[in-house]
Amino acid sequence: LADFRAEKPNWCPGCGDFTVLAALQKAAANMGLEPEDMVTVSGIGCSGKISQYMGSYGFHSLHGRSLPVATAVKLSNTDLTVVAAGGDGDGYGIGMGHFVHAMRRNIDITYIVMDNHIYGLTTGQTSPTSDKGTKTKTAPDGSTDEPVHPLQMAIMAGCGYVAQGYSGNLKQLTELIEGGMKHKGFSLINIYSPCVTFNKVNTYDFYKQHLINVDEDASYDKTDRFAAIKKIEETEELLTGLLYHNTEKLPYHEANTAFPTTPIVKADINLNQENWGKLIAQFK
Ligand code: SF4
Repeated sequence: LADFRAEKPNWCPGCGDFTVLAALQKAAANMGLEPEDMVTVSGIGCSGKISQYMGSYGFHSLHGRSLPVATAVKLSNTDLTVVAAGGDGDGYGIGMGHFVHAMRRNIDITYIVMDNHIYGLTTGQTSPTSDKGTKTKTAPDGSTDEPVHPLQMAIMAGCGYVAQGYSGNLKQLTELIEGGMKHKGFSLINIYSPCVTFNKVNTYDFYKQHLINVDEDASYDKTDRFAAIKKIEETEELLTGLLYHNTEKLPYHEANTAFPTTPIVKADINLNQENWGKLIAQFK
C-alpha cells in the first residue's frame, strides 16, 4: 500500500469516505498496479477529494464532469486503469446525463459513487438520492421528490457490472471495487457512505439493521438481469454485493472497429506540416 499513500484526508472523523479510499487503495495494490498505471478522476464534493488522496495519477475535475474526463483519459490511453469517483449529488444530479451515456457506450472505466443521500460539502441540502420525507435545509418539511434509483438505472442503461457496497464493510467493498476494475467495460459501485455530520437518518446503525448481503446468498444468480431488477425493487435497494454481472458485452474501444489498436498517446503522430493539415481537415 505504501505507493498509494498521498495527502492525509481532511474528511470529518467517522466519514464513510475514509473506508472507500482504503478499499480503492487495497484493490489497486491487490491488482499489482503502480500509481502511474492508474488515473483517479473526481468531481466536486467532499468525495471529490479522493483523487488527491488516492496517490495514483489523478484529476480533480468540475462538478458532475468526472465521467467525460475519465472517458477522455481512457480513450487516449487504453492501457490505463481509470476510476471515476464522486458523490450522489455530483454524479446523479448535474452529472446524470454523463452517467447514462457512459454506461450505454460501455466505456471501460470504474465509477465509484459515495452515496450519502445528502450534499455534505455545502452543509446539508437534499440530494438526488435523499429519501422521500427527508428533512434538510432545502426541504424543512421533508422532501417530496422521488429519489433517483442508480442501480436500476445502471442495469437499464446497459451497465455490465452493477454493485453496491457499504463503508462499514471494508473487505466486501474492496472485493467489489477490485471486481469492477477487472471487469472489461463500465462498472458501477454505488456505496452507502454515511455523512456523519449532516445526515442523521442514514447512519451506520441504520445500515447495520437494514442491509442485506446478496454475496452471502448462493441461490442469487448475478447474471440474470430481470432477477436483479426484481431484487432491487423488492428490497428498496437496501442491498450490498454484486447485483448484476454481464461479461459478454465488449467495451467501447474494442467494440468500435475504427478505434486505433495502439493507445492514441503512444501513436507516432509526426505532426509535420502535411500531417497537421490532414488532421485539421478532419474537423472542417
Ligand atoms: Fe464526510 Fe459529511 Fe463530513 Fe463531508 S460533511 S467529510 S460527507 S461527514
